[in-house]
Amino acid sequence: MKTLKDLFLDELADMYDAEKRVVKALPRMAKAATSPFLKGAILSHLKETEGHVQKLEQVFQIFEMKPKGKTCEATKGLLEEADEIAADFKGSPAINAALISAAQRVEHYEIASYGCLHEWAGLLGKRGAAALLQQILDEEKASDESLTELARASSNEESLGEPGPKSAKTANDKKPVVMRRAIRPARPSRNRTASITE
Ligand code: FE
Ligand code: FE
Repeated sequence: MKTLKDLFLDELADMYDAEKRVVKALPRMAKAATSPFLKGAILSHLKETEGHVQKLEQVFQIFEMKPKGKTCEATKGLLEEADEIAADFKGSPAINAALISAAQRVEHYEIASYGCLHEWAGLLGKRGAAALLQQILDEEKASDESLTELARASSNEESLGEPGPKSAKTANDKKPVVMRRAIRPARPSRNRTASITE
């Protein structure tokens, strides 16, 4: 009979594999980005992602298990699509918007998985593991929000490919907001939406 603990360990192995794949993929995505702010945001999330691998190893340890990955077919597929979209849109004004959308699909998968893992760790009575998983979840959410802000600040309009008063507002014009939110180390913030409109 399989229990919640089996389910937890199964999903933990899935995410361990997923994070390692993301560590390998993010440098390619940063290279494909033409917006310096998007490049910075991707590289900043790469550092966090390396931390996620380490935090997952700590979670395995709490459960007295050796870290072991199980092929995450979903992440594998999402990253293949990211490579495909990067190749398709190379040299086009929509390249950054395309990369943001690919990256956000990965973040949303991670958010769903860590949401469950965090709840289950709590139910299994492992508070230390639950806290580590919450830290990862917070960083994934912050990364997702930073990507939305980058898309809204410049990448979506740029991808219209039309010069005009609106799209003249390039990434540089929005530098202070985007730099502050996308490049700094991500952490949970209550006033995210309020500061977008500042
Ligand atoms: Fe992650
Ligand atoms: Fe992530």
